[in-house]
Amino acid sequence: MNHSHLHPSRREFLRRLALGGAAVATGLSLPGRLPAQPASAARKPLGVALLGLGTYATTQLAPALQQTKWCRLAGVVSGHPEKIAKWRQDFSLPEKNCYRYEDFDRIAANPDIDLVYVVTPNTLHREFVVRAAKAGKHVISEKPMAGSVADCDAMIAACREAKVKLSVGYRMHFDPYIKELMRLQRDRDFGDFTKLTGNFSYQFGQRAWRVEKKLSGGGPLMDVGIYVIQNACMAAGAAPVAVTAHEDPKTRPDFFQDVEEGMSFKLEFPNGAVLDAQTSYTAYANTFRAEGAKGWIEFGNGAFSYQLGRVSTSRGDLHFPEPNQQAAQLDDFADCILTGRESAVGGDMGRRDLKILTAIYAAARTGQRVAV
Ligand code: NAD
Repeated sequence: MNHSHLHPSRREFLRRLALGGAAVATGLSLPGRLPAQPASAARKPLGVALLGLGTYATTQLAPALQQTKWCRLAGVVSGHPEKIAKWRQDFSLPEKNCYRYEDFDRIAANPDIDLVYVVTPNTLHREFVVRAAKAGKHVISEKPMAGSVADCDAMIAACREAKVKLSVGYRMHFDPYIKELMRLQRDRDFGDFTKLTGNFSYQFGQRAWRVEKKLSGGGPLMDVGIYVIQNACMAAGAAPVAVTAHEDPKTRPDFFQDVEEGMSFKLEFPNGAVLDAQTSYTAYANTFRAEGAKGWIEFGNGAFSYQLGRVSTSRGDLHFPEPNQQAAQLDDFADCILTGRESAVGGDMGRRDLKILTAIYAAARTGQRVAV
């Protein structure tokens, strides 16, 4: 077949298809492409209200909502009237779709809002998710899902009771390279992945909620270490059975009074796979690698970024077209709501990860190996 007239990335995609190569499984189901609807079902984009208008909502989710097919930004919820005024102007939002935290429960009566996306500090997710569910709205909670397993339980129960769907902001699941990691695990292309390594660290120097335990639930482990845990569970195809960990010595103890500055931890999986991981607020690293008896995949610098850096395997580099992760994540959740299926990144996964995080903190505190 001659593909010379095609765009190079399209050509590469077809070449890989023809070779039966690694791109096949992911390439055919690009995120954001939804099953065709019966002509009778007039399918409309769902109205999303962003709750908590901080950095992530502003710099990532609002732009992503301009690219979604089945979601649209319909409203906001904020503690700051001046932010509401700016968002109303920037996105032409009607006043009736904008709420303060105090009066947000009135959203129950607003048919323009189908789903509330909670983007506040971690330990506040519980309160807002429960209130959104009670108002009859579907909910996405940012990661980590909450500050404790008990909070996750309350959120899951509230959504079940209200018969609304719950999802966690695990954007990576909708990245084609990460889908390829999951496919490699499922098909055992490189055998079972048994040797896993990862590090997500960045320099954090602001005095903000991230270093206040009552708002964050913990330091870099809760914030970014969770991404390494997520990838490891995908590569192992299971949750870990036990963990060991130690907290790194603090180089800025005055700044990190309340939370860890860095953590090294190991996860042990049922098939014998082991993850060796680090996370810190004092270094920079963004890498993940999974190795099996028959090959390996390595996510170089940018492993957990919004656009991944170089991804190589023992068979060569991978090249997939990358959609906007958050737009793909939002459209997938809209599809869950519209078709009735459960999110692959739902409350149970968020809760599983809180169990793992809690076990890591316990292992670091006690010096013991802790079962998950
Ligand atoms: P941020 O500090 O920039 O924004 C937090 C927002 O919450 C602000 O608008 C703030 O006004 C509001 N807020 C409400 N009550 C507050 C309180 N009591 N104290 C402080 N702020 C309060 O933080 P962010 O980086 O946007 O993170 C928000 C959430 O999104 C966190 O859970 C974080 O883990 C998550 N996040 C996810 C990703 C991702 O890639 N999925 C990336 C960044 C952040």
